[in-house]
Amino acid sequence: MQVFNFSAGPAVLPKEVLKRAADEMLDWHGSGMSVMEMSHRGKEFISIAHKAEADLRTLLAIPADYAVLFLQGGAIGENAIVPMNLLGDRKTIDFVNTGEWSKKSIKEAKKYAQVNVAASAEDRNFTYVPARETWKLSKDAAYVHVCTNETIGGVEYQWTPDVGNVPLVADMSSHILSRPIDVSRYGVIYGGAQKNVGPAGLTLVIARRSLLDRALPITPSAFHWKEQAENESMLNTPPTYAIYIAGLVFEWLLAQGGVAAIEKKNIAKAKLLYDYLDSTEFYRNPVAKSDRSRMNVPFKLRDEKLDAEFLKGAEARGMLQLKGHRSVGGMRASIYNAMPIEGVQALVNYMREFEKRHG
Ligand SMILES: *Cc1c(COP(=O)(O)O)cnc(C)c1O
Repeated sequence: MQVFNFSAGPAVLPKEVLKRAADEMLDWHGSGMSVMEMSHRGKEFISIAHKAEADLRTLLAIPADYAVLFLQGGAIGENAIVPMNLLGDRKTIDFVNTGEWSKKSIKEAKKYAQVNVAASAEDRNFTYVPARETWKLSKDAAYVHVCTNETIGGVEYQWTPDVGNVPLVADMSSHILSRPIDVSRYGVIYGGAQKNVGPAGLTLVIARRSLLDRALPITPSAFHWKEQAENESMLNTPPTYAIYIAGLVFEWLLAQGGVAAIEKKNIAKAKLLYDYLDSTEFYRNPVAKSDRSRMNVPFKLRDEKLDAEFLKGAEARGMLQLKGHRSVGGMRASIYNAMPIEGVQALVNYMREFEKRHG
């Protein structure tokens, strides 16, 4: 049976990438080794890491004055690592609170700094992005932190905030590489790989080099961006196999025509699902239309007593992991880059059929 995996993360990867990894599993390019067995300092793996970085730079048009780091610790790790690396002699961090992932970042940052919540969408249950005019930024913040795609709430920035000369820091875990971005507008971009990039265990950090001299002395070396940048992310052993798979995903994206081409597909996929959701009262997505995520689409059935039956039927048809996050319930369809439009069409067909049966 054809299976479509709607997991929020770890999530679907391109079939072509998995096949290639399978082909190369026992013997990478005649080396006689699996990538998993290679020294991270050997010429084979160095070539893999260099290609992955170069392709990521091409995909996102990352300027030369930005460091690209392949680290560990995940985005939750970054919630502590970012303050340690960027506070310098400042005391305050500005946050925009758009949901569960923002809240986690805020909570962790409070261990290291004074936190100013410059704007919050809590008043409407985190269903929108507060307009820039409403943000109350502090005068001397070390940086402004945003989560540009709230994976649980399904809220996505469709614009890049202008915060003047203060560095803008973005957790892009769940939509990085889903659309073109202007990297130069950000001080730091970070994200865990397991949503749209590759396997869990790899964390991407893209940081403006001029910000790399602000780390607190307590910053652990493995998470010290400047030290890692000087060591090409090999101050410690990097997550080699995850970097290799991410590199294959980057190649796959380039073959698709790059991020602008994949964005077109993502727009079409999201439109298919949201148009259907908006055409019926049987299902509901609560997010403001202008701020809806193209990657994560949460929805509720009118009658939540039908949730279990909905999920069971979906699974029987090969549509997996549609259950919503435990904190919000309902359903969530994550439709990352590697989800083909056929998967979204199959979901909409099933939703329509289910509505006919129960509506
Ligand atoms: C998944 C996710 C995280 C957490 O990632 P971990 O790898 O578990 O640390 C943080 N932020 C966002 C936006 C996410 O989607």
